[in-house]
Amino acid sequence: MARNTTALAPIRNIGIMAHIDAGKTTTTEHILYYSGITHRMGEVDEGTAVMDWMSQEQDRGITITSAATTCYWKEHTINIIDTPGHVDFTAEVERSLRVLDGGIAIFDAVNGVEAQSEKVWKQADHYHVPRIVYINKMDRVGADFMGACRDIEERLGARLIPINIPVGSEQHFQGVIDLIEMHYVQWNREDFGRSYQVRAIPEEHSATAIQQRELMIDRLSSASEEITERYLNGQEIPKALLQHTLRNETIQQQVVPVCAGASLRNIGIQLLLDAVVTYLPAPQELPSLTVSHGHTHQPLSIERSPTPPLSALIFKIQNDREAGDMCFVRLYSGTIKNGEKLYNSQKKIAERATRLLKMHANHSAATTSLVAGEIGVIIGLRRAQTGDTLCDTAAPHSLESMDFPEPVLSMAIEPQAYSDRAKLINVLKILEREDPTFVWKDNADTGELLIAGMGELHLEVVVTRIIEEWRLKVRAGKPQVEHRGTVSIEYEHTEHFEQQMAGERQHIHIHCTVKPQPRGAGNAIELKLEAPVMAQWSDTVEEAIRDALSGGIAFGYPAVDVQVIIDEVRYQEREGVESAMRAAINSAINTACQKARPLLLSPVMQVDISTPKAHMGDMLTALNQRGALILAVESKPHGEQIAAEVALKELFGFSTVVRSATRGLGDFSMEFARYAASE
Ligand code: GDP
Ligand code: MG
Repeated sequence: MARNTTALAPIRNIGIMAHIDAGKTTTTEHILYYSGITHRMGEVDEGTAVMDWMSQEQDRGITITSAATTCYWKEHTINIIDTPGHVDFTAEVERSLRVLDGGIAIFDAVNGVEAQSEKVWKQADHYHVPRIVYINKMDRVGADFMGACRDIEERLGARLIPINIPVGSEQHFQGVIDLIEMHYVQWNREDFGRSYQVRAIPEEHSATAIQQRELMIDRLSSASEEITERYLNGQEIPKALLQHTLRNETIQQQVVPVCAGASLRNIGIQLLLDAVVTYLPAPQELPSLTVSHGHTHQPLSIERSPTPPLSALIFKIQNDREAGDMCFVRLYSGTIKNGEKLYNSQKKIAERATRLLKMHANHSAATTSLVAGEIGVIIGLRRAQTGDTLCDTAAPHSLESMDFPEPVLSMAIEPQAYSDRAKLINVLKILEREDPTFVWKDNADTGELLIAGMGELHLEVVVTRIIEEWRLKVRAGKPQVEHRGTVSIEYEHTEHFEQQMAGERQHIHIHCTVKPQPRGAGNAIELKLEAPVMAQWSDTVEEAIRDALSGGIAFGYPAVDVQVIIDEVRYQEREGVESAMRAAINSAINTACQKARPLLLSPVMQVDISTPKAHMGDMLTALNQRGALILAVESKPHGEQIAAEVALKELFGFSTVVRSATRGLGDFSMEFARYAASE
């Protein structure tokens, strides 16, 4: 816990999180502009934003991928990891939260906390990400800085400390009062806010400023005896002491500093950047990393230093026509040198890095090495997939668990010209490497290609990318709900496997039990084998069990919530025994599950809707017609929020229903909640 937090290191890895339309892209654009990376301000509404480099994103006006970009501010390197804003992309949100060390949470000054910002905030809590809040759009009619702060404190349980407060609001919003410096900052309009003036606090805002500063001192005094003492003695509290205390408290996630601004009006960005370098942690200030050991799966602690062992996470793969697959990595420990072989603990292979790059918003720069704390791109890894860990062969471990949310929706896809089939399969392979929540299948019986993902939007995005990025003409079928199978009773089974394989008579004896697990618990595998058998076979047996479960134990759908215990494996050491072992396990699991009263499960989604009050009744009717279970209804200044659970099969085209029922004013998002037995 006692770490050196005074020496500011030069890197900040941050993410910007926000509800759609709160101003993430506009703010990022301005950050890049003021930090000198871009020379022309990209504007979201014109579709030229630099970060939204996928043309499709520009059309949709939402940010889907989580690419990283680097800029510089006051001798610091700031890596901005773009977190996806839509919950159809949960795995990407969670992965980017793992990769960043701090975040800017943007809220709309009129809307306050919205459904998605609430979700991302809670995920950031879960991953212990220190944050700064930025209240954007202070120029909008109805902007309310204090109201938004109250909303965040009440709904998200955060302790906020405004470090600057707005002067004026709506069209009179002009600048902010810096409560640490106790001066007024006013931006110049002529140069798009590139420069600003520091002035004395205007008379009429002086009382509020003093009161807000007192509040800050009060909140910080509980963390610093020195502040308390000075305050009680009526002494001046030095700026450095305030900043130091606020920094520690922010990094420990006790408090959240708040800035105000209006990115579109060029107000507030520089002070936000100052806050990022002043209050958010450098990579090496964070506690050492706990990972899971590659063989024993026991927790392993790794120091965040440039010396070995290497620990790096591939958090994004982007296919570039010229460079090939670009693997975005975050290094937690160790150093990667150009040309070096890197061990991939998920794929259990070593691959050579042939080029290393650092990314800027609109160009990349070659580099000879990447060190702990940095973010960069590796080229040359052919097998790597998003979510894989790169490490030293001598210290294998994995940073990410391999349980991604299950795809809940699938659809058939076919090329218009049969001659494009091989090309399409190649593209599907690329997409699968980029996105572990996307899967595809080639049905050998029917020759049909199936794609599956997290929701309608996810699959729509995939299909559009195939058509636009790879210029393939394809036809997509109707989305179908992906079911699952499970067992409903415990069943014990003894398998006597006997087969002619590889020219040998193979005999394998297996004793296993399958049991239902609570809904949502996932599958569990327990091997209780004698030590020598365990040492030789645990990996193969576990893999074979996983294959059997995902291959579909009943109804042809993958199994969930099944516990498998194997407590006896007997075999004879012969040529081809490994294939025989796999076949025997597969047969044992299948038979046991068939006997354990298999059950068909369907996905149920958690749905969040916001609607103007006037359309509330229509929305509730629409939900009731779909058999929804209403979880909560909440009144907010900008509309009503409804949370409900609805079976996925009832939700096809529901976003269109929400849009038309609310005349385009409503908003809808959904996320997988659980599987439930189908009626
Ligand atoms: P994102 O979805 O979070 O990336 O949000 P965008 O940056 O795309 O912004 C959404 C919309 O809000 C765009 O039309 C922006 O022009 C607008 N916007 C962004 N910042 C401000 C602001 O400070 N004031 C006002 N009035 N509008 C803003
Ligand atoms: Mg955006």
